[in-house]
Amino acid sequence: MSSAVRNRRYSFEFFPPKTDAGRKRFGATIRELAVLGPSFVSVTFGAGGSTREGSFQTAAEIMRTTDLAVTPHLSCIGSSPDQVKAQLDMYQTIGVQRVMALRGDPPENEAELPRAFQYANELVEFIRGHGGFHISVACYPEFHPESASPGADVEAFVRKARAGADEAITQYFFNNEAYYRFVEWVRRLGVEIPIIAGLMPIADYDQVLRFSGFCGADIPAWIRKRMEALKGDLHGQRELGHEIAVRQAEDLLRNGAPGIHFYTLNRSEPTLRIWDALGLPKTTDVTGEESVAAT
Ligand code: FAD
Repeated sequence: MSSAVRNRRYSFEFFPPKTDAGRKRFGATIRELAVLGPSFVSVTFGAGGSTREGSFQTAAEIMRTTDLAVTPHLSCIGSSPDQVKAQLDMYQTIGVQRVMALRGDPPENEAELPRAFQYANELVEFIRGHGGFHISVACYPEFHPESASPGADVEAFVRKARAGADEAITQYFFNNEAYYRFVEWVRRLGVEIPIIAGLMPIADYDQVLRFSGFCGADIPAWIRKRMEALKGDLHGQRELGHEIAVRQAEDLLRNGAPGIHFYTLNRSEPTLRIWDALGLPKTTDVTGEESVAAT
């Protein structure tokens, strides 16, 4: 891989672990991935009470035990404006300088949660007013499943960029052409912010099939057929998933994607293998002897 490719931005997404075993594994995952020297790591936000706190605790733990830049996700759903402000203040207190502003999705059976804002562009505006954060937003090369039309979804994205977003991260996709066309479309509308490609290595096809049904990511027929032929063979699925992700990442980087955001699902191995296959360098910039797992 050329130095141009090495100089792109690479980031890793995690969710707050929910059990003691999950927390222990998560500590190891962070240590294994931190040596790759990502531009930042992000921590998802669940609108339900305990998952909301889990997001802060996980972000704080990564800040405390590593040198990594952390991007906690914030959502319009599950908080009042005062609570969003309190979260921003808390993050600022512990040195967080970046956040990801989302509308969010309500957890099942919790339709009555507070809702600080209707759409993510209003949250971006609020955070911009608060000051002190680099702001990422989500975008959808294959369009958000609730959007009235592709054009309406692109307009919604343009509103987020105009409200002050610094960068966008895409929903995962398997059709690179959808990403290239989305980028072209929004560039024609004057949006200049970097659009980082979200990459989901398939490790468990049934799981990705479920997520994809929910988030609207299209699984091309050739991937479906090859994965269905590997039903029950998780090792085979992981191998094929790796091969697909490497080819996809190579093509994205060759065609100018400014970076890749790995949906890690709290596992290090798929990302480590793709990193090696792309020939990207490793660093050892984790500080301190204490580990996330130790706490
Ligand atoms: P918005 O940009 O507000 O868009 C939501 C929908 O409303 C779209 O269909 C859009 O077209 C439409 N819309 C926007 N503005 C208007 C308007 N003015 N009038 C009518 N329609 C409008 N979810 C979580 O709960 N927690 C997470 O941590 C999380 N992390 C994510 C990370 C990434 C990188 C991505 C891509 C998604 C993530 N999500 C997360 C999922 C996300 O919250 C959902 O996809 C959610 O349904 C939409 O969020 P948004 O910020 O894109 O919303």
